Amino acid sequence: MAATPRQAKMLIVGEQVDALDGQTFEVLNPATGEVIANVPLGGKADVDRAVEAAQKAFEGPYSKWSASKRGRTLQKFADLVKKANEELAQIDRENVGKPIVASRGESFAVSLVLEYYAGAANKHFGNTIPTSIPGFDFTLREPIGVVGLIVPWNFPQNMAAWKLGPALATGNTCVLKPASWTPLSAIRLAEIALEAGFPPGVVNVVTGPGGTAGAALAAHPGVGKVAFTGETRTGQEIMRLAANNVKRISLELGGKSPNVVFADADLEKFAAAMPNSVFDNAGQNCTARSRILVERSVHERVVQLIAEQTNKLVVGDPADDKTQVGSLVHQRQRERVMEFVASAQEEGATLVTGGVPPSDAALAGGAFLMPTILNGANANMRFIREEIFGPVVGVIPFDSEEEAVRLANATPYGLAGSVWTRDIGRAIRVAKGIRSGTISVNSNETIHTEAPFGGYKMSGLGRELGMGALDEYTQTKNVFVDLG
Ligand code: NDP
Repeated sequence: MAATPRQAKMLIVGEQVDALDGQTFEVLNPATGEVIANVPLGGKADVDRAVEAAQKAFEGPYSKWSASKRGRTLQKFADLVKKANEELAQIDRENVGKPIVASRGESFAVSLVLEYYAGAANKHFGNTIPTSIPGFDFTLREPIGVVGLIVPWNFPQNMAAWKLGPALATGNTCVLKPASWTPLSAIRLAEIALEAGFPPGVVNVVTGPGGTAGAALAAHPGVGKVAFTGETRTGQEIMRLAANNVKRISLELGGKSPNVVFADADLEKFAAAMPNSVFDNAGQNCTARSRILVERSVHERVVQLIAEQTNKLVVGDPADDKTQVGSLVHQRQRERVMEFVASAQEEGATLVTGGVPPSDAALAGGAFLMPTILNGANANMRFIREEIFGPVVGVIPFDSEEEAVRLANATPYGLAGSVWTRDIGRAIRVAKGIRSGTISVNSNETIHTEAPFGGYKMSGLGRELGMGALDEYTQTKNVFVDLG
């Protein structure tokens, strides 16, 4: 029998609150279709309330906190997240349909990101500048004030932590708006921030639809910056809304990243790494290598090797430790992905494996889809041009290094990519030739807490992670002192 859905609350000035008008919406477990929680349907009035709370907190005693104190409190936050790993992992296992092992990994990564910014808080500072007239000139890195953090459903905890870490390290106060399909772990993270010692109002959460609550946050004149992760179209809308009061913005948007495989590469190593590069998180990953560009002489061999590896993946109940591919986040997302698979075949691609829901009757109530490889693709096909955000990859052969780079760049996106070759000169030429924010050589590793992550072209603006993210949450003040 299904458990009774729990009543979730928003967090404003450290208090668990309902929406002002009392409305709620249902949140599901996509692996079973069951309702697991009722969540406040926040709107503009709730955003106003949260921004006001964050403004008061920004102007209050918190503004006098030293960077070291912020760092110590962030470290406590990181420690408490580490302690709550299983609880947080189970929340997203249930709400996102993520395999539990991956969900534990995501929550652990959250604690590492918070720990990194705990250490960084008192290591971000300005310069002294020798000016041409006598005097003493120095810069200060000052917090922006209230920052709006709008995050998607695919990595709900990580996307929140990538923003909360640098925002809190630099002394801002936050209003976090999680995705409506997956709001539960963000609420819990904000509660943990409060338990760690951040004063009430420093981290607030408003749940509610992007088109109303999200848009109100992006347009709010009291918000100095919006950090957003999500679809490119939504990012464009946020840019328009943020123009209201010339807000700072950082945008992490969609991707259509290539895996470029040359004939001299270690093909077995590539094939072993490939499933995780596109089927991790059921393909709902902005850095998914959803296009495989492979040198023609090894094309069929590579297709055979990756099909063998893909067919070994365990698709199943997200609660099972052995599961590697869980449910998609929603039935609507699966329908969308299956339309891409159908259109690919209509345009002439051939199905190598997958393309259908699993046959296991126990999974019939969920939004599962078998990992899917389509061969014989070309750059004009819709499933190669557009971001799918599901477990689907297309394979395209190429004949020369120049053609490989041209195909890799034949997309409006530029987030990530990999090049596989034993020729170091070619690896670096191709890495430089691909117009994207990150590139990996003989690897699909993209995300490093210590290194910048973000997009070229329509994949975004600004960088998250690394020390550079601290710049994104501060503004520079130049002070000149006349010593005469
Ligand atoms: P959306 O853009 O639909 O939603 C992201 C967030 O924005 C949600 O909280 C959503 O709320 C909110 N939102 C929606 N409309 C508006 C609006 N008009 N104004 C303000 N906020 C709004 O993306 P998805 O949640 O569908 O996430 C998937 C997308 O995220 C993919 O395209 C993927 O590429 C991208 N992504 C990019 C990453 C990167 O780092 N580059 C990383 C992860 C994902 P609600 O849920 O209520 O609609």
